[in-house]
Amino acid sequence: MVEVPIKTASKEYPLFIGNDAIYSLSDVIDGLTPRVSSVFIISEETVAELYLEEVRTNLQDSIPVYHYVVPSGEASKSFENYYECQTFALQSGLDRNSIILALGGGVIGDLAGFVAATYMRGIRFIQVPTTLLAHDSAVGGKVAVNHPLGKNIIGAFHQPEAVIYHLPFLATLPVEEWRSGYGEVIKHAYLSGEEFLSWLEKEVSTLDDLKDEKLLHVLKEGINVKAQIVAKDEKESNVRAFLNFGHTLGHAIESELGYGKITHGDAVAIGMVFALRMSEHVYGKDLNVSRLQALLERFDYPTIDCSLDAHRLMEKMKKDKKSYEHTIHMVLMKELGQMEVRKVNDEDVLRVLTTFIKG
Ligand code: NAD
Ligand code: MG
Repeated sequence: MVEVPIKTASKEYPLFIGNDAIYSLSDVIDGLTPRVSSVFIISEETVAELYLEEVRTNLQDSIPVYHYVVPSGEASKSFENYYECQTFALQSGLDRNSIILALGGGVIGDLAGFVAATYMRGIRFIQVPTTLLAHDSAVGGKVAVNHPLGKNIIGAFHQPEAVIYHLPFLATLPVEEWRSGYGEVIKHAYLSGEEFLSWLEKEVSTLDDLKDEKLLHVLKEGINVKAQIVAKDEKESNVRAFLNFGHTLGHAIESELGYGKITHGDAVAIGMVFALRMSEHVYGKDLNVSRLQALLERFDYPTIDCSLDAHRLMEKMKKDKKSYEHTIHMVLMKELGQMEVRKVNDEDVLRVLTTFIKG
């Protein structure tokens, strides 16, 4: 097991990662002050069925443990579930020294984290991520639920006490979830620079390579990229926005197709290719888009659905959190590892996007 320290302006906490990480759970809880009075596990059906019992056996008998399980999937990041979790917590007598344990992927991390951020004005929580994508979502303290009018729009910054990344839990992930999570890994490599990117190109030929030492390396590197950015800018006043590379079009595609029709990582993969094309257009230089495309092709990432409408996507891009005054702001790449948030004008976006959709 490896310990990666996560430092943000508001808090420092450990991330434990490895094949035996879950065995540290009771020690982590034991080490917290004030003393933990009870544990509330929030999970979802698929993950609970597989791992809830194993997690419970790694908790001490002396502390009361409760659990609440929501359906799997993005739709569970809802007000209704948020409210039900709060009701269950109150009925179970959780107090300010209770701790919430988020057992699942990004959906559960966000939901349970937001419950923790607001229950009695905020109680402590621990992330136990179970997806590859969660190397991104479990670090950095952004927690939220969705509103029918916007994704992640009701939320908070609330850092966990610890992240416990038990790698054997990932063994049951379906292939499309490996690919989705790997989309964010590739994004982190583009933010990081040549060394990480060429390591991925050399060492990961198929998603099956994501095992043992290689999986550990990929996760540690990805987490480091995210952690370094969050350390500089916890609340997204500047560089944290770089983590949105590929997300302006990615989110627009997810929203146009309807959530759940395309995985987040697939949408981000498409969005990164577009962001590079836009960057080439804006900076007037070759940024080796074919290198990214070749990498994505290895893992069968989809290309953009050619029935999508450029104007509608642009309207969605204007609703992105980085955009304001009805102009699109995107994360562009000046060169590998060097990003910039930049205002882009509608005509340029339309031109590049139309060509991009035509393929
Ligand atoms: P997810 O939590 O829905 O998990 C994806 C799918 O995998 C689900 O069907 C789930 O049931 C299944 N699953 C999870 N773990 C499994 C396991 N070990 N074995 C078998 N199946 C398993 O989605 P995700 O991709 O992990 O996360 C996406 C969410 O994360 C989005 O809601 C997104 O907004 C959020 N997110 C948040 C941040 C942040 O900083 N807070 C960052 C990135 C993404
Ligand atoms: Mg993302």
